[in-house]
Amino acid sequence: MSDSFELVGHLKNLSANLWWSWHPETWEIFETLDAERWARLHHNPIAFIESFEPGELEVRAGRGALASRIQQAARRQADELRQRGPSTLLEAAPLHRRPVAYFCAEFGLHESLPIYSGGLGVLAGDHLKAASDLGVPIVGLGLFYAEGYFQQALDEEGRQSELYGRTRVDTLPIRKLLDADGQPRVVQVEVAGRPIRLHIWEAHVGRTRLLLLDCDIDLNSPDDRRLTTQLYGGDQRTRIRQEVLLGVGGVRALAMLGIRPGVYHLNEGHSAFATLELCARRMAEEGIDWEEAHERVARQTVFTTHTPVPAGHDRFAPEMIDEALGDLRERLQLDLRAFHGLGRLDLDDPNEPFCMTVLAMKMSQFTNGVSNLHGHVSRQMWQNLWPERPTHQVPIGHITNGIHVASFLAPQMRALFDRHLGPHWHTRMERPETWQEIAAMDDGELWETHQILKAKLLDFVQARLASQPGPRGDGPGQVRPGSGLDQDVLTIGFARRFATYKRADLILSDLERFKAMIHSSERPLQIIYAGKAHPADRFGKALIEKIVGLTTDPTLGGRVVFLADYDMNIARHLVQGVDLWLNNPRRPQEACGTSGQKAVFNGALNCSILDGWWAEGFDGENGFAIGQGAELLNPEEQDALDAKELYRVLEDDVLPLYYELDHRGLRAGWIARMKWAMLSLGWRYNARRMVLDYLRLAYLPALGATSATAPYRSL
Ligand SMILES: *Cc1c(COP(=O)(O)O)cnc(C)c1O
Repeated sequence: MSDSFELVGHLKNLSANLWWSWHPETWEIFETLDAERWARLHHNPIAFIESFEPGELEVRAGRGALASRIQQAARRQADELRQRGPSTLLEAAPLHRRPVAYFCAEFGLHESLPIYSGGLGVLAGDHLKAASDLGVPIVGLGLFYAEGYFQQALDEEGRQSELYGRTRVDTLPIRKLLDADGQPRVVQVEVAGRPIRLHIWEAHVGRTRLLLLDCDIDLNSPDDRRLTTQLYGGDQRTRIRQEVLLGVGGVRALAMLGIRPGVYHLNEGHSAFATLELCARRMAEEGIDWEEAHERVARQTVFTTHTPVPAGHDRFAPEMIDEALGDLRERLQLDLRAFHGLGRLDLDDPNEPFCMTVLAMKMSQFTNGVSNLHGHVSRQMWQNLWPERPTHQVPIGHITNGIHVASFLAPQMRALFDRHLGPHWHTRMERPETWQEIAAMDDGELWETHQILKAKLLDFVQARLASQPGPRGDGPGQVRPGSGLDQDVLTIGFARRFATYKRADLILSDLERFKAMIHSSERPLQIIYAGKAHPADRFGKALIEKIVGLTTDPTLGGRVVFLADYDMNIARHLVQGVDLWLNNPRRPQEACGTSGQKAVFNGALNCSILDGWWAEGFDGENGFAIGQGAELLNPEEQDALDAKELYRVLEDDVLPLYYELDHRGLRAGWIARMKWAMLSLGWRYNARRMVLDYLRLAYLPALGATSATAPYRSL
């Protein structure tokens, strides 16, 4: 028997490692302790524990079966976090002494740690979690943003405004690294001719460590302190300085901590200055020249590019590069032409800006896109870097993104998988055979589970709508947003960043036709939107305004809703509860798109343009395709064609299949597709498969170790 004091100690330990966030048996403990408080505090266990009156938590934790649940969770965490747990890969052994350093500007690990903005960050978070699960040694490097990304507020008109609030650091699962004297360790980076000092925060993501650099400390001037307060905030000058701090500062932090990475993985070009710092250090330490240093660093460097949208690649005027990085050029002993040339396609064009993606590609031996199609598009896009090669020989490959399933899977669905796929399915989910048993799953059982999750989503939506700012729909001739939502109506989810190419309003382009579908007496639909527009993106903001305007429009019957302040919590609810996940980017601009993968595991069907992962994942039966993958030169024509195809697939395929009942009163055709989606896609679009691909195709070769031929043996 342990006393209740010890139980609270266990809870504190659990809350200190983000491991809790993908183990439902752990976070359900917090929910059981006080569901309302747990939700109100944004699922932040540290704030949660701290919010109780002295003694109160001890009393609650000791009640009923909770005590043994807490002990069990604590035991399991301790077991799994031990260095060489059962899932440690023999294959990854060469990385144990020389781990992968994984650089990214944002990490989306959980809604309570707001240092992410969207897909890139969530992918990076998923990568660290899957590496922990597998036992692949990785250290994450990022920046700590005390104000994070903005919170989205909407006014009556649906206009977005951006709220920045300081996160209470003492409620985050991070702690400052101290030196032997108990003082914070300080990393120093010269930016624009003056020193900037950084503290290092450490977060534990299961067995993986994440280091976050922070210059908001009193060793810096008030202006410099603000450099890392906001993610993707400020102007170009702020951006380049953040990138110097991340890249150069990241390398120095690793050196200070005695971590000697065998591989550097640049997740997006933001961190590519890291490679220049590495070269400069090697030149100084090993007495080698630039060419030699470049070659050695490139051999160790893996670069993942994330977008085919030209504006998505950071480009800086050469003067800005000089200003921000002056002393680095001297350490590299490069003249201006050579130095600027590292970020240029044409070394002799003084007007060409310095592109971080070009730098990253020149400095790494392995470059990949994030889906098959994106690899193809990237080879075309960067062909000029290898003018002597035909497009298909441009050395850019692809590793398709996958999601960290445990972070997005509904506990009810997980229980279903545990029953049908066997208790260890999650350690074998990257194998096709693991998913075979889905076929034998009882239709009614699967549908019932889905209906429960859908009801939970609709409750969540109503609660959010009641509390979020924005139109109330109480003006004359208005309806209350969400007043028409109905459990039995086909429910579409559309949630992502409101970048223009994602075309959130494509389904609204023929408003009359859309209304006819909303109001159809036999086959109605409803749609739930969420998403933030970048503060500087007025087109994205106009889209939000347009959609929010429709939420109170009586001719749409309260069946179009917009949830403010999209984050990982909203994402989880949506992908777990909708029937259909809609994605209609302008092909080929969606590099991968991962939210649709989250939907698959929860039983929602994808309806998507054949872009990103869906261009390779769709097989005709595991969801729906909008069009055939046409790419027209004229964007207006493309939009018109895609809208027509979208209406066609909804009216002719999606809606009839959803509303067709068999003799048992079940939506058999629809359920068959849900199953086939899991069976055909589940093994591939998960982060275990992704990290194993990186291990075999990129990390081990970069170390000079060859990948073991036997498929993943466990120790
Ligand atoms: C998964 C996720 C994304 C990425 O969505 P895409 O479909 O790739 O655009 C963005 N934001 C959040 C909060 C997510 O969970």
